[in-house]
Amino acid sequence: MTKNSGFFAGLDIGGTTVKSVLVDANAEQVGGLVEVRSLVKDGYEATFRQLENALEQLASGAGIDLSAIKGIGLDVPAPSSDGVIWGRANLGEDWVGTDIRGKLSERLGLPVYMTNDGNAAALGEYALRRKYHGSLLLVAPGTGLGGGLVLSGGTGYEGANGLALEVGHISVPFREDDGELPTCSCGLKGCVEAWVSLVALRRRLRFELAKPEWASHPLNEGDAPIEEKAFRLREFAEKGDALAVQIFKQQGFILGYAVADLVRVFDPGLVVVGGGLAETSFRDLYMGWIHEGFVDRAWPAYRHSPLDETKETTCFEWAIGGDASAAIGMAYAAREMFQ
Ligand SMILES: [Zn+2]
Repeated sequence: MTKNSGFFAGLDIGGTTVKSVLVDANAEQVGGLVEVRSLVKDGYEATFRQLENALEQLASGAGIDLSAIKGIGLDVPAPSSDGVIWGRANLGEDWVGTDIRGKLSERLGLPVYMTNDGNAAALGEYALRRKYHGSLLLVAPGTGLGGGLVLSGGTGYEGANGLALEVGHISVPFREDDGELPTCSCGLKGCVEAWVSLVALRRRLRFELAKPEWASHPLNEGDAPIEEKAFRLREFAEKGDALAVQIFKQQGFILGYAVADLVRVFDPGLVVVGGGLAETSFRDLYMGWIHEGFVDRAWPAYRHSPLDETKETTCFEWAIGGDASAAIGMAYAAREMFQ
């Protein structure tokens, strides 16, 4: 095998689908995104079969033999260390505590690199910005709050045990209307994720809808479950609805607060905001609210150069890879590692 040969696959396991891409030895993406059902609730063996399925589709789409794939980058929607998922996850029971990386590597006869979805998306956003060589911090509000850090030059930072950048669980100094610190999905109180996740939207909406000022709000009509009402909040915010805007404004502001603390620790230069909000029509407003929270908390040097007030020291951008970021990041990581 000559040095510049072989192909590398990125496999991004989500709660519903596996998204996958292929890159060649020169870091060019080959073929398009292949998506298959993830079947994560049916146990990891079921998902492994789906991964094989995705690899076959990637190979045939690229017109190559399956054996030309030389390495795999795999990301999972759960915290893991040494290829073993250790934390609460929206997966079937047998995933937790299993050496997923080792088992998949043995099954495919290929080297496998494994990390969580936040780190994977950060690597993908980095790979897509070919002209950017500084460091990059990703925060991605969604079901939870994902995050990742890529150091200058493109190395993902995962910490000594793969446990770094659990950004959703840093604490923020905000209390709910009842004076309590909200409880996070991790069991702790006051985590930023408890303010910016989908679960947080439900809690906030419940508090707001109980107030007299929103008594005649359309979301107070009908007896749809709060999950369904919270799901519609984006659509309301897109139409400029005052209640929905207020809730997202608070969310963005608190996220900005947490980002300021992360920037104080890592000074990344570029903060990329991912997650589904990147696709909404009010995303510019949302970015403005993140920036408001950031400015409230970050010292001036983290905002602009002391020599040139117009030069920002921390830039903010939306993610550009859409829902393919993580798969792309994993394909690039596999190439870096296994070429
Ligand atoms: Zn937490």
